[in-house]
Amino acid sequence: MDVPKIFGSMVFNDEVMKARLPKDAYKALHKTIDEGTTLELDTANVVAEAMKGWAIEHGATHFTHWFQPMTGITAEKHDSFISPEAGGKVMMEFSGKELVKGEPDASSFPSGGLRATFEARGYTAWDPTSYAFIKDDTLCIPTAFCSYTGEALDKKTPLLRSMQALDKQAIRILRLFGDETSKHIITTVGPEQEYFLIDCDVYKRRPDLIYTGRTLFGSKPSKGQEMDDHYFGMIKPRVKSFMKELDEELWKLGILAKTEHNEVAPAQHELAPVFSTTNIATDHNQLTMELMKTVAGRHHMVCLLHEKPFAGVNGSGKHNNWSISTDTGMNLLEPGATPSQNAQFLLFLVAVIKAVDEYQGLLRMSVASAANDHRLGANEAPPAIMSVFLGDELEAVLEAIESGRDYHDKKKKLMSIGATVLPHIPKDTTDRNRTSPFAFTGNKFEFRSLGSSASISGPNIILNTIVAEALSEYADKLEKAKDFDKALSKLIHDEIVAHKRIIFNGNGYGDEWVKEAKKRGLLNLKTTVDALESFITKESIDVFEKHGVYTETEVRARYEILLENYYKTINIEALTLSSMVKNNIIAAACAYESRLADVVIKKEQALGAKGAKAEKAMLQKMSDLVAGMEAALEKLDADVAKEESMSDVRKLAEYHRDVVLADMNGLREVIDEVETMVPSDLWPYPTYGEILYSVRYQPDRTNVK
Ligand code: ADP
Ligand code: MG
Repeated sequence: MDVPKIFGSMVFNDEVMKARLPKDAYKALHKTIDEGTTLELDTANVVAEAMKGWAIEHGATHFTHWFQPMTGITAEKHDSFISPEAGGKVMMEFSGKELVKGEPDASSFPSGGLRATFEARGYTAWDPTSYAFIKDDTLCIPTAFCSYTGEALDKKTPLLRSMQALDKQAIRILRLFGDETSKHIITTVGPEQEYFLIDCDVYKRRPDLIYTGRTLFGSKPSKGQEMDDHYFGMIKPRVKSFMKELDEELWKLGILAKTEHNEVAPAQHELAPVFSTTNIATDHNQLTMELMKTVAGRHHMVCLLHEKPFAGVNGSGKHNNWSISTDTGMNLLEPGATPSQNAQFLLFLVAVIKAVDEYQGLLRMSVASAANDHRLGANEAPPAIMSVFLGDELEAVLEAIESGRDYHDKKKKLMSIGATVLPHIPKDTTDRNRTSPFAFTGNKFEFRSLGSSASISGPNIILNTIVAEALSEYADKLEKAKDFDKALSKLIHDEIVAHKRIIFNGNGYGDEWVKEAKKRGLLNLKTTVDALESFITKESIDVFEKHGVYTETEVRARYEILLENYYKTINIEALTLSSMVKNNIIAAACAYESRLADVVIKKEQALGAKGAKAEKAMLQKMSDLVAGMEAALEKLDADVAKEESMSDVRKLAEYHRDVVLADMNGLREVIDEVETMVPSDLWPYPTYGEILYSVRYQPDRTNVK
C-alpha cells in the first residue's frame, strides 16, 4: 500500500484546488477559507465546475450536502449530476449555487420546535473550511444546516461560532503579550475512539443490540476483563484485517488514523487519529464512526459504538484531547522556553481551570445522554463530578504562586511569574491519572467524559465558549492595567485562589472524592436529566449569547431535543426488552419448567414421592423466578403505558429515569438469573460469553455459530 499516494486521494484538498482552479479563483476561495469572507457566485461557479470534473474522474455520479443535524449522526440527500439534454441524453452538471447552498426538505429532523413543519425547509450552506470529499461515489460537501430564520439546526454551525469566539478572545490576550503576528487562534482536537467488534451472526440474533445498540440483559460470562489480558493484546487476524481496511478508507478521506489497539474489555478496541482543527476533527470523527460500521460489515462483523453495550465490562468513551494554538502552529498550552511564554502559558492554563470551575454544569451537560449515564460515575469512566487533574509538577507550581512562596524545582530554580522558566513538565508520566474527567497531559487537556457514540461537537462548543469567556474577562482586566506584569501576576494568583477547588489529583473513582467534592461545593449531576438543567440557566444563556454561540431560542430548542432524546431512548429500550421477554424468554423458561416437571413425574413414578427431591427444588425455583419475571414484566408494561398521558418533556424524562429505567433493571435482574438456570439448547438468545468472544482468532467465519 502506497500510503502517501492514497492519503487524501478522495479529498478535494488544497493541492487539488491549486492544481485545478484558475489562480484568481484559488485565491478568492482561500480568502473565504482563511478569513470567512463570502464566496462570490462567479467564483463558486468556477469552483463547482472544477469540483465536478475532479469528482467525476474519481467515479462520482452524485453530490450531496453532508450535514450534521441534531440526531447526532450525519445526514445526506443525494442528487445526481445529471441534467437532461435534447435527444433524450443527459449531461453532468453542478453549479456554484448548488455548491454553496442546498435546500433539503428537512421537516423530519429534530428542531426542538424551531421549525414548524409548514415551514419545513431548512437550508444547508457549504463550510469551505472543511474539504469536500468522495464517499460511495458521491461528492460530499460539508455543510452547516440552518432554518430560514437563521437558527442553527445542526452541530456544525455553533461549533464554528464557538471557534470564532475563542479566536477573538485569545487574540486579545496574545496582543497583550506583544504577539502582533498571529492572525487567528484555533482549537485542536484529537478524539480517541473506542468501540466493540462482534460477529454479525450473534448480532442478528439480539434484537436489543439491533434496536437499542446495547444488551438489555445477559448474565456475566465466566470470563470478563478480570485477567486484563485483552488490553493492548495481540490483535486477532480478523480484527487486524478490519483495521487495515479501515485505515485505508480513512486515509483516502484524508483522516489521520494513527493508533489502533485492543482495549480493556473483551472485543473492545480503540482508534486514535492525529489531532487537527476542531471542526475538521469533528467531521472526521463522524466519518470514522460511519466507516467503522461499514467496514465491519464487510468483515461480517458489527461495530458497536454504544457507550455501554454490555453490563459488567467496560463501556466505550471518547477522549477529547484539546488544545489551543495559533495559526502559525504554536501550541498555547505548551509550557514555553522563555519566562514571558511561560507567563502566557500560565494565563491560558488558569483560564481553562476557571472555565471548568465556573461552568462545571455545562461541561457535564455536554456529555450527557441516556447511554453515557451508564458509564459516568460507574467506576470505569470518569465520575459525573467535573474536576481538573494537573499532575504533581504543575500543581506544585500553582501552589507556590498561590502561597506567594518561591517555587523550587529539582534544579533549585526560582519560580515567579514572568521572571523565570517553568520546571520541566513531563508529557508522558506513567502515573498519569486515568480517573480524572479533565486532565492536563503536558501540552493539552484530555476531556475524558465523552461517550463513544456522540458527536464531539457538543463538548467542544462548550469548551471553546467557556474558555473564550474566561479569556475575555482576563483581557478586559489586563487591557486596562497600567503595569501589565504586575496585573498579570496578581490575576494569575487570584485566579488560582478562586478556582483551586476544581483541581483534584486523587482517585476520581473513590467514594471519598464524592464526599470531598461535596465539601468543596462541586456539582455532582448524576443523570442526564439533572445535567441538562445547566444548559438553560441564566448564566449559561448569557455566556452563549455574549459570545454569539447560541441564541436563547436555540438553547431552549436544543434542551428540548436532548430531553426528548433521553426519554425516547429509554422508551425504545423498555419496549424492546418487554417484547424479547414475551416473545422468547418466558417461553424458554416454561419449556425448562416443563422439562423439569416431566422428570419429576417420571422419577416419582419410579422412585416414589421423595424420588425427585432435587428436581422438584429446581422446578420450584424456576417457578418462582417465572412468577417474578411475569410480575416485573407486568409492572414495566403498565408503567410504560402510563407515559401516554404525559406531555411535558421534562416530566417524561424524569419519569423514564425514575420509573421505567428502574422497572427495566428489576426485570433484568430476574432474567439474568433465569439465564443461568435454563439449559443452553433452550435459551433463545446469544449469551454474553458468546457475543463477547464471537470474534475469534480464526479468521474463518465458518467457525462462528
Ligand atoms: P495517549 O493519551 O493515549 O497517551 P497521546 O498523548 O500521544 O496518547 O495523544 C492522544 C491524542 O491527543 C492523539 O489523538 C493526539 O493527536 C492528540 N494530541 C496531541 N497533541 C494535541 C494537541 N496539541 N491538540 C489536540 N490534540 C492533541
Ligand atoms: Mg488518552
